Amino acid sequence: MITNLPSHNDFEKVAKECFLQAIESFFTIYSNYKEYDDENIYEEVPLNIIWEHNLPISRTAIILLHQGIETYMKGVIVKSSPYLLLEQKRSDWPTLPNSHHKSYDSLFTIAGENLLHTFCAVCDDIQLDQKTIDFIEGVRKKRNLAIHGSGVYINSAEEIILDILKAYTLFFGKASWFVDLKEGRQKNPLFGYYDWDFESIQSYKYLDFLEATIGVTKLKSFLSFDIVGRRYICPTCLFEMTRKNDYMKSKWAFLAPNDKFSSTVYCINCNHDNEVERIDCYVGDCKGNVMNMEGICLSCGEQQF
Ligand SMILES: [Zn+2]
Ligand SMILES: [Zn+2]
Repeated sequence: MITNLPSHNDFEKVAKECFLQAIESFFTIYSNYKEYDDENIYEEVPLNIIWEHNLPISRTAIILLHQGIETYMKGVIVKSSPYLLLEQKRSDWPTLPNSHHKSYDSLFTIAGENLLHTFCAVCDDIQLDQKTIDFIEGVRKKRNLAIHGSGVYINSAEEIILDILKAYTLFFGKASWFVDLKEGRQKNPLFGYYDWDFESIQSYKYLDFLEATIGVTKLKSFLSFDIVGRRYICPTCLFEMTRKNDYMKSKWAFLAPNDKFSSTVYCINCNHDNEVERIDCYVGDCKGNVMNMEGICLSCGEQQF
């Protein structure tokens, strides 16, 4: 008998961990860089120099991405049957009544082409077209290059981050990566000891990081909310930051609906809707006309008289 058969959830959890870990490793580098908060340093040491220096992180991120995709495919196959993943000849399976027990994890499982073909045969979780297969195959080739080549070209951090978000969105739906990143933070046993609400909204830093690496236009395709139009400081995020004597420069709130009479902004970071007033900002070069209910311009952050 084969014991300890894996479940779909086991694989899905590990697949997500691979992707999230890869994003977190880039995010940590970026966050450390941003801590310098000095334009002179940023001019002398632009972000791309930091990515070049951290090439090993890019290399392991590609490996994690590939591992995540293979694990996801295995999870889908396991839904049909975990036996479909076994490499061993069926006549060698220890499944007859008197055969010795063998734990599933001690057996060889399929990989590479066999895995892809089996996945395609049973998958009804996502829409499979040639583009998807090309993407999966493309990642496999990039991973081979990253592992086997000494000094060969490794994709830029931006490309790898894009591929991770692409895989996550393809497998788990739009914005799922952001929900899971936030959840991952909250599961940290130390989370909330300083201040639960303040710590919760710090997730805006992931959005800032992605804006700086892949750009807002590309980020758009991985979010469920259609981020069109001007961006505003979110009243809720602003409140949480100022409550702790911090400031909020990032703008992740949008008029909902996006028109000139709209009196609500929705924040994709904290998911809150906030009522706003439509008054022209007094600051000369600020074109803002969206204020929070305390009279702070959500474009430039200035308190109105
Ligand atoms: Zn917010
Ligand atoms: Zn203003």
